[in-house]
Amino acid sequence: MLGAGMSGLNFFKFAEDKLKDVDIVCYEKNDDVGGTWLENRYPGCACDIPSVVYQYPWRPAAWSKYYSHSPEIWKYFKMIEQENNFIEKYIKLRHKVTSLSWEDSTQQWTIKGDDLATGNSFTDHSDIVIDGGGVLNRWKWPDIPGLNSYRGTLLHSAQWNQSVDLKDKRVALIGAGSSAVQILPNIYSQAAEIHTWIRNKIWITAGFAQAFAGPNGSNFTYSEEQQDAFKDPDLYLKYRKLIEGELNQRFSFIINGSKAQAEARTYSENEMKNLLKDRPDLLEQIMPTDFFVGCRRPTPGNGYLETLTGTKTTAYTSQLGQITEKGFINPDGVEQEVDVIICATGFDTSYKPRFPLLVNGVDKREEWKDLASVPSYLSLGLADVPNYFVFGGAYCPSAHGSFFPLVQAYTNYVIQIISKMQIERITSLRPKSRAVAQFLRHADTFLKRTAWTGPCSSWFKGGKKDGKPAIWPGSRLAFLRMLEQPRFEDYDMQYENAEDMWAFLGNGFHVCEEDGSDITWYLGENKRYVDEVDVRWVMDGSKGIPMDKP
Ligand SMILES: Cc1cc2nc3c(=O)[nH]c(=O)nc-3n(C[C@H](O)[C@H](O)[C@H](O)COP(=O)(O)OP(=O)(O)OC[C@H]3O[C@@H](n4cnc5c(N)ncnc54)[C@H](O)[C@@H]3O)c2cc1C
Repeated sequence: MLGAGMSGLNFFKFAEDKLKDVDIVCYEKNDDVGGTWLENRYPGCACDIPSVVYQYPWRPAAWSKYYSHSPEIWKYFKMIEQENNFIEKYIKLRHKVTSLSWEDSTQQWTIKGDDLATGNSFTDHSDIVIDGGGVLNRWKWPDIPGLNSYRGTLLHSAQWNQSVDLKDKRVALIGAGSSAVQILPNIYSQAAEIHTWIRNKIWITAGFAQAFAGPNGSNFTYSEEQQDAFKDPDLYLKYRKLIEGELNQRFSFIINGSKAQAEARTYSENEMKNLLKDRPDLLEQIMPTDFFVGCRRPTPGNGYLETLTGTKTTAYTSQLGQITEKGFINPDGVEQEVDVIICATGFDTSYKPRFPLLVNGVDKREEWKDLASVPSYLSLGLADVPNYFVFGGAYCPSAHGSFFPLVQAYTNYVIQIISKMQIERITSLRPKSRAVAQFLRHADTFLKRTAWTGPCSSWFKGGKKDGKPAIWPGSRLAFLRMLEQPRFEDYDMQYENAEDMWAFLGNGFHVCEEDGSDITWYLGENKRYVDEVDVRWVMDGSKGIPMDKP
């Protein structure tokens, strides 16, 4: 397992419950679990999905807020780890994977990496690799001339330095995506002045599941009475189902020409017009005209537009062209000094392998370097790459709803694959090129009907306005159903015995005939305990009525 974030921890849990005879080793580059929520600690960093549905369904917790902040979400993951002893059992912390290499001759992966604590490298081997390395885990600096020459404090939203005090500082905030939209209102009161760039037009939308949020979609702290309600499992489940149910209806507004899409647009348009009523110039520059709400993952922006138009803020709608030693050059060509530059410029979302990924000596990074995305199989596999499963790969339904149910679906899927491989002695299993090619063709054709193909710049299009959206061609619900059972017909499989795929029938006996388990399971199970001795006593044939004839 690569990575001990949400994906890794969920896999450990279900592998323990459902699999037998597996050795699991997890390599995690960080010094603790939690992934996204360990790394992202910028001011205001919170989930934009209500917390009660941004958690494992199998371990509901009592949350302090409707949308919880990063430290609380991380604590939740840490609790999961501690309750299950996952570090002790499976996780090698501070171990960074640097290459993966598959060989058909051995039917195994070779995993290479660095032990960040000792500085030594390591090599390991495995039958299967599960990549939980995170869809938003490789943060990157923006490509702006002069960035390296800047001598002040340079921060990235995904690498926040907690010791930096923004009080009375002159700050430049680059970006207007989900992170920047959270950062601006949360640093506004401290900073002396803020310069920020909105290079691309954006819809500032209603929050996810706004109907259950505070006034005007705001975040809120759960009251004591509400905290008590978390203790009633049925009430809590009903509450979660109501919220999740609302999120699950959001796909319809992605469909071009739909009534839901028109309504979402009217709502966001009115909201932006209202909040920017004193700044018609800004409204005109940032409100999209050529793409629909939902083209990017919605950016709920409580307090964003209010602080964007605050007296301390200068908003630029052009590209930041030049950074200097002391600050940046503003659109009038004048140097503006700032004490801190914050890059809320996101992650590498190309889905391309982040390190050498070799199959029989061929590096897939090289093979795919000119492709818009990678040849993804249902967002969980890659064409012709054996025994490799990724949680949240290209074409995953990342644009609407919580990531937790997706992780659950990936886990359930992989567990079925591993079980089948164990029982039927399958040594490798790789998505067929034909299945991948046709999946991609279907997806790309379908996606033309959706808002996602509009001319916006979004992370699931690799940050390019004219990029191809690598997103699931349908709703999350359709995706979850799709993953319930693997389509083995889409895989090429290799068996331990190449000449006899039925070798697993072995000596003809089933294990249940040896391990003491139920050998009459197909008759059904008793609903209540019945003592065998009583049955034998009552049903003893010698106590029946003898018959004259046999
Ligand atoms: C700021 C922010 C806010 C978000 N908000 C939401 C939200 O509200 N709702 C939502 O559904 N999703 C949200 N997401 C998406 C979020 O990433 C997922 O919900 C989820 O956390 C993904 O979990 P994961 O375990 O797959 O990946 P991650 O949490 O990214 O974990 C990946 C792990 O893999 C490790 N790793 C990566 N590469 C290597 C390597 N080479 N070697 C060893 N270890 C490695 C990392 O260190 C990390 O621990 C947000 C993301 C960000 C960045």
